[in-house]
Amino acid sequence: MQVRHPETRWDWNKIEVDAIDFPSGFQWGVATSSHQVEGNCNNNWSRWEASLNEDGTPRIHNGDRSAIACDHWNRYKEDIALIKALGVSVYRFSVEWSKIEPVAGNFDESAIQHYRDLCLALKDAGITPVVTLHHFTNPLWFEDMGAFENEANIRYFVRFSQRVFNSLKDHVAIWCTINEPTVYTSQGYFNGVWPPGKRDPQLAGEVMKNLLVAHTRVYEALKNGVDGKNYQVGIVKNVFPFDPYNRWNPLDWFVCRILDGVFNQGAIDYFQTGKFSFSMPGMDKVKYINKSGIGSLDFIGLNNYSHQRVKSQLNPKEFFRFEFYPHEEMTDMFYPIYPEAIYRSIKRVKDIDVPIIITENGIADKKDDRRNIYIERYLYSVSEAIKEGADIRGYYYWSLMDNFEWSEGYEMKFGLYEVDFTTQVRTLREGSKRYMDIVARFSQ
Ligand code: BGC
Repeated sequence: MQVRHPETRWDWNKIEVDAIDFPSGFQWGVATSSHQVEGNCNNNWSRWEASLNEDGTPRIHNGDRSAIACDHWNRYKEDIALIKALGVSVYRFSVEWSKIEPVAGNFDESAIQHYRDLCLALKDAGITPVVTLHHFTNPLWFEDMGAFENEANIRYFVRFSQRVFNSLKDHVAIWCTINEPTVYTSQGYFNGVWPPGKRDPQLAGEVMKNLLVAHTRVYEALKNGVDGKNYQVGIVKNVFPFDPYNRWNPLDWFVCRILDGVFNQGAIDYFQTGKFSFSMPGMDKVKYINKSGIGSLDFIGLNNYSHQRVKSQLNPKEFFRFEFYPHEEMTDMFYPIYPEAIYRSIKRVKDIDVPIIITENGIADKKDDRRNIYIERYLYSVSEAIKEGADIRGYYYWSLMDNFEWSEGYEMKFGLYEVDFTTQVRTLREGSKRYMDIVARFSQ
Protein backbone atom coordinates (compact mmCIF):
# COMPACT_ATOMS: atom_id res chain seq x y z
CA MET A 1 0.00 0.00 0.00
CA GLN A 2 1.13 3.52 -0.75
CA VAL A 3 2.65 5.14 2.33
CA ARG A 4 1.13 8.60 2.38
CA HIS A 5 2.83 10.22 5.33
CA PRO A 6 5.82 8.33 6.68
CA GLU A 7 6.97 8.93 10.22
CA THR A 8 9.62 11.65 10.45
CA ARG A 9 12.32 11.26 13.11
CA TRP A 10 15.06 13.75 13.81
CA ASP A 11 18.12 13.20 15.95
CA TRP A 12 17.56 15.68 18.75
CA ASN A 13 21.06 15.10 20.12
CA LYS A 14 22.47 16.66 17.01
CA ILE A 15 19.97 19.49 16.64
CA GLU A 16 20.82 23.00 17.75
CA VAL A 17 17.42 24.05 19.12
CA ASP A 18 18.46 27.69 19.29
CA ALA A 19 18.92 27.77 15.52
CA ILE A 20 15.41 29.08 14.99
CA ASP A 21 13.97 32.04 13.21
CA PHE A 22 10.55 33.69 13.15
CA PRO A 23 9.45 36.48 10.84
CA SER A 24 8.92 39.97 12.13
CA GLY A 25 5.32 40.56 13.15
CA PHE A 26 4.93 36.91 14.16
CA GLN A 27 2.09 36.76 16.73
CA TRP A 28 3.05 35.14 20.01
CA GLY A 29 0.13 34.26 22.21
CA VAL A 30 -1.60 32.07 24.76
CA ALA A 31 -4.98 30.34 24.61
CA THR A 32 -7.85 29.24 26.86
CA SER A 33 -11.53 28.34 26.41
CA SER A 34 -14.57 29.57 28.33
CA HIS A 35 -15.74 26.36 29.96
CA GLN A 36 -12.24 25.43 31.04
CA VAL A 37 -11.43 28.68 32.83
CA GLU A 38 -14.43 30.94 33.46
CA GLY A 39 -16.45 29.06 36.04
CA ASN A 40 -20.22 28.83 36.65
CA CYS A 41 -21.24 27.44 33.29
CA ASN A 42 -24.60 25.82 32.71
CA ASN A 43 -24.21 23.93 29.46
CA ASN A 44 -23.97 20.42 27.98
CA TRP A 45 -20.68 19.87 29.79
CA SER A 46 -21.88 20.91 33.26
CA ARG A 47 -24.77 18.50 32.84
CA TRP A 48 -22.41 15.76 31.66
CA GLU A 49 -20.09 16.33 34.64
CA ALA A 50 -23.03 15.93 37.01
CA SER A 51 -24.18 12.64 35.47
CA LEU A 52 -22.76 9.12 35.85
CA ASN A 53 -21.56 6.41 33.52
CA GLU A 54 -23.77 3.35 33.09
CA ASP A 55 -21.68 1.47 35.67
CA GLY A 56 -22.21 4.23 38.24
CA THR A 57 -18.71 5.72 37.98
CA PRO A 58 -18.23 9.45 37.44
CA ARG A 59 -17.81 10.77 33.94
CA ILE A 60 -14.80 12.88 34.83
CA HIS A 61 -11.50 11.73 36.29
CA ASN A 62 -11.67 11.89 40.11
CA GLY A 63 -15.32 12.94 39.85
CA ASP A 64 -14.13 16.50 39.20
CA ARG A 65 -16.59 19.19 38.15
CA SER A 66 -15.65 22.33 36.27
CA ALA A 67 -17.56 24.42 38.89
CA ILE A 68 -15.79 27.72 39.44
CA ALA A 69 -12.75 26.58 37.38
CA CYS A 70 -10.14 29.40 37.40
CA ASP A 71 -12.80 32.01 38.18
CA HIS A 72 -11.48 33.78 35.10
CA TRP A 73 -14.89 35.41 34.61
CA ASN A 74 -14.19 37.55 37.67
CA ARG A 75 -10.41 37.56 37.61
CA TYR A 76 -9.80 38.41 33.98
CA LYS A 77 -8.03 41.68 34.81
CA GLU A 78 -5.51 39.91 37.00
CA ASP A 79 -5.12 37.27 34.27
CA ILE A 80 -4.45 39.90 31.62
CA ALA A 81 -1.56 41.13 33.77
CA LEU A 82 -0.25 37.55 33.75
CA ILE A 83 -0.52 37.40 29.96
CA LYS A 84 1.35 40.65 29.70
CA ALA A 85 4.08 39.43 32.02
CA LEU A 86 4.79 36.59 29.58
CA GLY A 87 5.64 39.12 26.89
CA VAL A 88 3.10 37.75 24.41
CA SER A 89 0.77 39.96 22.39
CA VAL A 90 -2.25 37.73 21.64
CA TYR A 91 -4.91 36.14 23.82
CA ARG A 92 -7.15 33.51 22.22
CA PHE A 93 -10.28 32.85 24.30
CA SER A 94 -13.78 31.58 23.57
CA VAL A 95 -17.17 33.12 24.25
CA GLU A 96 -19.59 30.95 26.21
CA TRP A 97 -22.72 30.53 24.14
CA SER A 98 -24.77 29.28 27.13
CA LYS A 99 -24.08 32.52 29.01
CA ILE A 100 -24.81 34.78 26.04
CA GLU A 101 -27.96 32.94 24.91
CA PRO A 102 -29.20 30.95 27.91
CA VAL A 103 -32.63 30.59 26.31
CA ALA A 104 -33.07 30.27 22.54
CA GLY A 105 -33.43 33.75 21.09
CA ASN A 106 -32.91 35.57 24.43
CA PHE A 107 -29.54 37.23 24.45
CA ASP A 108 -28.12 38.35 27.77
CA GLU A 109 -26.71 41.82 27.20
CA SER A 110 -24.70 41.72 30.42
CA ALA A 111 -22.83 38.62 29.23
CA ILE A 112 -22.06 40.29 25.91
CA GLN A 113 -20.91 43.36 27.83
CA HIS A 114 -18.58 41.14 29.85
CA TYR A 115 -16.76 40.05 26.68
CA ARG A 116 -16.68 43.63 25.44
CA ASP A 117 -15.04 44.65 28.73
CA LEU A 118 -12.57 41.79 28.39
CA CYS A 119 -11.64 42.94 24.87
CA LEU A 120 -11.24 46.53 26.04
CA ALA A 121 -9.05 45.51 28.96
CA LEU A 122 -6.90 43.45 26.57
CA LYS A 123 -6.57 46.35 24.19
CA ASP A 124 -5.55 48.64 27.06
CA ALA A 125 -2.82 46.14 27.88
CA GLY A 126 -1.67 46.05 24.25
CA ILE A 127 -2.90 42.49 23.74
CA THR A 128 -4.83 41.44 20.63
CA PRO A 129 -7.98 39.41 21.31
CA VAL A 130 -8.67 36.36 19.13
CA VAL A 131 -12.19 35.02 19.66
CA THR A 132 -13.41 31.43 19.24
CA LEU A 133 -17.18 31.16 18.79
CA HIS A 134 -17.55 27.46 19.62
CA HIS A 135 -15.16 25.53 21.83
CA PHE A 136 -16.94 22.22 22.56
CA THR A 137 -19.82 23.60 24.68
CA ASN A 138 -23.47 24.04 23.78
CA PRO A 139 -26.33 25.74 25.62
CA LEU A 140 -28.72 23.12 27.01
CA TRP A 141 -31.56 24.13 24.70
CA PHE A 142 -29.31 23.60 21.69
CA GLU A 143 -28.02 20.28 22.98
CA ASP A 144 -31.59 19.15 23.62
CA MET A 145 -32.62 19.82 20.05
CA GLY A 146 -29.78 17.56 18.87
CA ALA A 147 -27.08 20.23 18.44
CA PHE A 148 -25.08 19.60 15.26
CA GLU A 149 -26.73 16.24 14.61
CA ASN A 150 -29.32 18.10 12.52
CA GLU A 151 -28.34 20.32 9.67
CA ALA A 152 -31.45 22.44 10.36
CA ASN A 153 -29.97 23.51 13.72
CA ILE A 154 -26.99 25.23 12.13
CA ARG A 155 -29.02 28.39 11.78
CA TYR A 156 -29.01 28.89 15.56
CA PHE A 157 -25.25 28.83 15.64
CA VAL A 158 -25.11 31.28 12.74
CA ARG A 159 -27.53 33.64 14.51
CA PHE A 160 -25.47 33.51 17.71
CA SER A 161 -22.22 34.05 15.81
CA GLN A 162 -23.57 37.09 14.00
CA ARG A 163 -24.81 38.57 17.23
CA VAL A 164 -21.43 38.16 18.93
CA PHE A 165 -19.56 39.36 15.87
CA ASN A 166 -21.63 42.54 15.64
CA SER A 167 -21.08 43.25 19.33
CA LEU A 168 -17.33 42.66 19.39
CA LYS A 169 -16.13 43.45 15.89
CA ASP A 170 -14.94 46.92 16.83
CA HIS A 171 -12.35 45.20 19.00
CA VAL A 172 -11.72 41.84 17.37
CA ALA A 173 -10.22 41.25 13.93
CA ILE A 174 -9.40 37.52 14.11
CA TRP A 175 -12.24 35.02 14.53
CA CYS A 176 -12.15 31.24 14.97
CA THR A 177 -15.52 29.68 14.20
CA ILE A 178 -15.34 26.14 15.59
CA ASN A 179 -12.65 24.53 17.68
CA GLU A 180 -11.56 21.05 16.60
CA PRO A 181 -14.67 19.67 14.89
CA THR A 182 -13.11 16.20 14.69
CA VAL A 183 -12.33 16.07 18.41
CA TYR A 184 -15.88 17.17 19.28
CA THR A 185 -17.20 14.51 16.91
CA SER A 186 -14.95 11.61 17.81
CA GLN A 187 -15.20 12.09 21.56
CA GLY A 188 -18.93 12.79 21.64
CA TYR A 189 -20.18 10.45 18.88
CA PHE A 190 -17.56 7.77 18.31
CA ASN A 191 -15.83 7.10 21.63
CA GLY A 192 -18.83 8.36 23.62
CA VAL A 193 -16.68 9.79 26.41
CA TRP A 194 -17.85 13.39 25.99
CA PRO A 195 -21.40 14.66 25.76
CA PRO A 196 -23.75 13.49 24.38
CA GLY A 197 -21.97 10.14 25.00
CA LYS A 198 -23.03 8.39 21.80
CA ARG A 199 -21.17 5.64 19.95
CA ASP A 200 -22.48 5.85 16.45
CA PRO A 201 -20.00 6.21 13.56
CA GLN A 202 -22.79 7.03 11.12
CA LEU A 203 -24.00 9.92 13.26
CA ALA A 204 -20.39 10.98 13.85
CA GLY A 205 -19.98 11.39 10.08
CA GLU A 206 -23.16 13.46 9.93
CA VAL A 207 -22.08 15.71 12.82
CA MET A 208 -18.66 16.24 11.30
CA LYS A 209 -20.23 17.23 7.99
CA ASN A 210 -22.63 19.63 9.74
CA LEU A 211 -19.79 21.28 11.66
CA LEU A 212 -17.94 21.98 8.43
CA VAL A 213 -21.09 23.35 6.85
CA ALA A 214 -21.74 25.43 9.98
CA HIS A 215 -18.27 26.86 9.67
CA THR A 216 -18.86 27.84 6.04
CA ARG A 217 -22.23 29.44 6.83
CA VAL A 218 -20.76 31.46 9.67
CA TYR A 219 -17.84 32.42 7.46
CA GLU A 220 -20.24 33.71 4.81
CA ALA A 221 -22.46 35.50 7.33
CA LEU A 222 -19.53 37.35 8.90
CA LYS A 223 -17.69 38.12 5.70
CA ASN A 224 -20.68 39.26 3.67
CA GLY A 225 -21.17 42.45 5.68
CA VAL A 226 -19.97 45.78 4.29
CA ASP A 227 -16.65 45.62 6.05
CA GLY A 228 -16.19 41.83 6.01
CA LYS A 229 -12.81 42.16 4.35
CA ASN A 230 -11.39 43.73 7.51
CA TYR A 231 -11.81 40.49 9.44
CA GLN A 232 -10.04 37.19 9.26
CA VAL A 233 -12.25 34.20 9.87
CA GLY A 234 -10.92 30.65 10.13
CA ILE A 235 -11.63 27.25 11.65
CA VAL A 236 -9.42 25.52 14.22
CA LYS A 237 -8.36 22.06 13.13
CA ASN A 238 -6.55 19.55 15.27
CA VAL A 239 -4.17 17.36 13.25
CA PHE A 240 -2.78 14.15 14.70
CA PRO A 241 -0.41 12.14 12.47
CA PHE A 242 -1.22 8.42 12.80
CA ASP A 243 1.74 6.04 12.67
CA PRO A 244 1.68 2.24 12.64
CA TYR A 245 2.83 0.34 15.70
CA ASN A 246 4.42 -2.25 13.47
CA ARG A 247 5.57 -0.77 10.21
CA TRP A 248 5.78 -4.24 8.66
CA ASN A 249 2.12 -4.91 9.39
CA PRO A 250 -0.12 -3.84 6.46
CA LEU A 251 -3.16 -3.89 8.74
CA ASP A 252 -1.62 -1.26 11.01
CA TRP A 253 -1.02 0.89 7.94
CA PHE A 254 -4.55 0.30 6.75
CA VAL A 255 -6.07 1.46 10.03
CA CYS A 256 -3.77 4.50 10.06
CA ARG A 257 -5.10 5.39 6.66
CA ILE A 258 -8.72 5.10 7.77
CA LEU A 259 -8.11 7.21 10.87
CA ASP A 260 -6.13 9.74 8.93
CA GLY A 261 -8.96 10.05 6.42
CA VAL A 262 -11.58 10.60 9.08
CA PHE A 263 -9.59 12.70 11.49
CA ASN A 264 -7.22 14.74 9.32
CA GLN A 265 -7.80 14.53 5.60
CA GLY A 266 -11.62 14.86 5.52
CA ALA A 267 -11.60 18.52 6.59
CA ILE A 268 -8.58 19.34 4.43
CA ASP A 269 -10.37 17.89 1.39
CA TYR A 270 -13.52 19.84 2.23
CA PHE A 271 -11.69 23.16 2.13
CA GLN A 272 -9.76 22.24 -0.99
CA THR A 273 -12.49 20.62 -3.07
CA GLY A 274 -15.84 21.25 -1.36
CA LYS A 275 -16.20 17.48 -1.08
CA PHE A 276 -16.50 15.70 2.22
CA SER A 277 -16.49 11.98 2.80
CA PHE A 278 -16.36 10.03 6.04
CA SER A 279 -16.11 6.30 6.25
CA MET A 280 -15.28 3.72 8.88
CA PRO A 281 -15.74 -0.03 9.00
CA GLY A 282 -19.35 -0.83 9.86
CA MET A 283 -21.00 2.27 8.44
CA ASP A 284 -22.30 3.63 5.16
CA LYS A 285 -19.99 6.23 3.76
CA VAL A 286 -21.17 9.80 4.43
CA LYS A 287 -20.63 11.83 1.26
CA TYR A 288 -21.39 15.47 0.76
CA ILE A 289 -20.62 18.23 -1.67
CA ASN A 290 -20.73 21.89 -0.75
CA LYS A 291 -18.91 23.96 -3.33
CA SER A 292 -19.01 27.02 -1.07
CA GLY A 293 -16.77 25.07 1.30
CA ILE A 294 -13.84 25.69 -1.04
CA GLY A 295 -11.65 28.39 0.38
CA SER A 296 -14.19 29.43 3.05
CA LEU A 297 -11.25 30.37 5.24
CA ASP A 298 -8.95 33.37 5.63
CA PHE A 299 -6.60 31.27 7.72
CA ILE A 300 -6.44 27.79 9.16
CA GLY A 301 -5.93 27.47 12.90
CA LEU A 302 -3.80 24.41 13.58
CA ASN A 303 -3.79 22.61 16.91
CA ASN A 304 -1.19 19.92 17.35
CA TYR A 305 0.11 18.17 20.43
CA SER A 306 1.64 14.88 19.28
CA HIS A 307 0.98 11.83 17.11
CA GLN A 308 -0.92 8.59 17.69
CA ARG A 309 0.55 5.13 17.29
CA VAL A 310 -1.92 2.60 15.98
CA LYS A 311 -2.07 -1.12 16.66
CA SER A 312 -4.68 -2.95 14.63
CA GLN A 313 -6.78 -5.65 16.33
CA LEU A 314 -8.86 -8.50 14.97
CA ASN A 315 -11.89 -7.32 16.89
CA PRO A 316 -14.61 -5.81 14.74
CA LYS A 317 -15.95 -3.80 17.68
CA GLU A 318 -12.56 -2.28 18.45
CA PHE A 319 -10.41 -2.68 15.40
CA PHE A 320 -7.48 -0.73 16.81
CA ARG A 321 -5.96 0.70 19.94
CA PHE A 322 -3.32 3.30 20.58
CA GLU A 323 -0.04 2.10 22.00
CA PHE A 324 3.36 3.75 22.16
CA TYR A 325 6.87 2.35 22.24
CA PRO A 326 8.46 2.19 25.69
CA HIS A 327 11.22 4.57 24.63
CA GLU A 328 8.84 7.33 23.55
CA GLU A 329 8.91 10.00 26.24
CA MET A 330 5.34 10.58 27.35
CA THR A 331 3.55 13.76 28.35
CA ASP A 332 1.03 13.36 31.19
CA MET A 333 -1.64 12.89 28.52
CA PHE A 334 -1.82 9.63 26.57
CA TYR A 335 0.60 10.69 23.90
CA PRO A 336 4.36 11.30 23.79
CA ILE A 337 6.57 14.31 23.21
CA TYR A 338 7.00 14.10 19.46
CA PRO A 339 7.96 17.53 18.10
CA GLU A 340 8.15 16.33 14.50
CA ALA A 341 4.34 15.97 14.71
CA ILE A 342 3.80 19.70 14.46
CA TYR A 343 6.13 19.94 11.48
CA ARG A 344 4.25 17.15 9.72
CA SER A 345 0.87 18.66 10.61
CA ILE A 346 1.89 22.02 9.17
CA LYS A 347 2.87 20.27 5.93
CA ARG A 348 -0.62 18.77 5.80
CA VAL A 349 -2.68 21.94 6.30
CA LYS A 350 -0.32 23.86 4.04
CA ASP A 351 -2.13 22.16 1.13
CA ILE A 352 -5.20 24.31 1.81
CA ASP A 353 -3.10 27.28 0.77
CA VAL A 354 -4.18 29.87 3.33
CA PRO A 355 -2.04 31.36 6.13
CA ILE A 356 -1.63 29.15 9.18
CA ILE A 357 -1.90 30.15 12.83
CA ILE A 358 -0.82 27.60 15.42
CA THR A 359 -3.86 28.16 17.64
CA GLU A 360 -2.82 25.56 20.25
CA ASN A 361 0.24 23.58 21.27
CA GLY A 362 1.43 22.73 24.76
CA ILE A 363 2.18 20.01 27.28
CA ALA A 364 0.46 18.55 30.33
CA ASP A 365 3.41 18.25 32.69
CA LYS A 366 2.58 18.18 36.36
CA LYS A 367 6.21 17.82 37.44
CA ASP A 368 7.26 20.62 35.10
CA ASP A 369 10.32 18.62 34.11
CA ARG A 370 9.59 18.38 30.37
CA ARG A 371 7.86 21.68 29.58
CA ASN A 372 11.05 23.51 28.56
CA ILE A 373 12.16 20.71 26.23
CA TYR A 374 8.70 20.43 24.73
CA ILE A 375 8.57 24.16 24.03
CA GLU A 376 12.01 24.48 22.49
CA ARG A 377 11.67 21.39 20.31
CA TYR A 378 8.15 22.10 19.04
CA LEU A 379 9.12 25.68 18.26
CA TYR A 380 12.21 24.42 16.48
CA SER A 381 9.89 22.28 14.33
CA VAL A 382 7.63 25.25 13.60
CA SER A 383 10.67 27.31 12.64
CA GLU A 384 11.87 24.55 10.29
CA ALA A 385 8.50 24.53 8.53
CA ILE A 386 8.69 28.32 8.14
CA LYS A 387 12.21 28.01 6.70
CA GLU A 388 10.77 25.59 4.15
CA GLY A 389 8.15 28.09 3.09
CA ALA A 390 5.11 27.56 5.32
CA ASP A 391 3.18 30.80 5.86
CA ILE A 392 2.73 30.68 9.62
CA ARG A 393 1.49 33.88 11.22
CA GLY A 394 1.46 33.03 14.90
CA TYR A 395 1.78 30.52 17.72
CA TYR A 396 -0.51 30.43 20.78
CA TYR A 397 0.59 28.28 23.69
CA TRP A 398 -2.01 26.05 25.36
CA SER A 399 -2.58 27.12 28.00
CA LEU A 400 -2.18 30.37 29.90
CA MET A 401 -2.94 28.54 33.15
CA ASP A 402 -3.99 25.13 34.47
CA ASN A 403 -7.66 24.53 33.84
CA PHE A 404 -10.49 22.03 33.52
CA GLU A 405 -9.17 19.46 31.05
CA TRP A 406 -12.52 17.94 30.00
CA SER A 407 -12.71 14.20 30.91
CA GLU A 408 -9.36 14.46 32.65
CA GLY A 409 -10.68 17.09 35.05
CA TYR A 410 -8.07 19.06 36.96
CA GLU A 411 -5.42 16.34 36.85
CA MET A 412 -3.73 17.61 33.70
CA LYS A 413 -1.48 20.64 34.13
CA PHE A 414 -1.15 22.45 30.83
CA GLY A 415 -0.60 25.90 32.36
CA LEU A 416 2.32 28.24 31.91
CA TYR A 417 0.98 29.34 35.29
CA GLU A 418 0.18 26.78 37.94
CA VAL A 419 -3.22 27.38 39.56
CA ASP A 420 -3.96 26.51 43.16
CA PHE A 421 -7.66 25.71 42.84
CA THR A 422 -8.35 26.31 46.54
CA THR A 423 -6.90 29.79 46.72
CA GLN A 424 -6.96 30.68 43.00
CA VAL A 425 -3.33 31.79 43.30
CA ARG A 426 -1.45 31.60 40.00
CA THR A 427 2.30 30.92 39.94
CA LEU A 428 4.61 30.97 36.94
CA ARG A 429 6.20 27.58 36.25
CA GLU A 430 9.97 27.35 35.76
CA GLY A 431 9.60 25.51 32.44
CA SER A 432 7.47 28.34 31.05
CA LYS A 433 10.48 30.63 31.05
CA ARG A 434 11.71 28.89 27.93
CA TYR A 435 8.64 30.22 26.13
CA MET A 436 9.19 33.72 27.54
CA ASP A 437 12.84 33.69 26.39
CA ILE A 438 11.91 32.70 22.84
CA VAL A 439 9.08 35.24 22.71
CA ALA A 440 11.43 37.97 23.95
CA ARG A 441 14.06 37.02 21.38
CA PHE A 442 11.64 37.34 18.47
CA SER A 443 9.49 40.30 19.54
CA GLN A 444 10.50 43.81 18.56
C1 BGC B 1 -8.58 21.51 23.08
C2 BGC B 1 -8.42 22.10 24.45
C3 BGC B 1 -7.72 21.10 25.36
C4 BGC B 1 -6.35 20.82 24.79
C5 BGC B 1 -5.48 19.91 25.61
C6 BGC B 1 -7.41 20.70 22.61
O1 BGC B 1 -7.89 19.50 22.07
O2 BGC B 1 -8.97 22.51 22.16
O3 BGC B 1 -9.67 22.48 24.93
O4 BGC B 1 -7.65 21.52 26.68
O5 BGC B 1 -6.49 20.25 23.52
O6 BGC B 1 -5.93 18.62 25.62
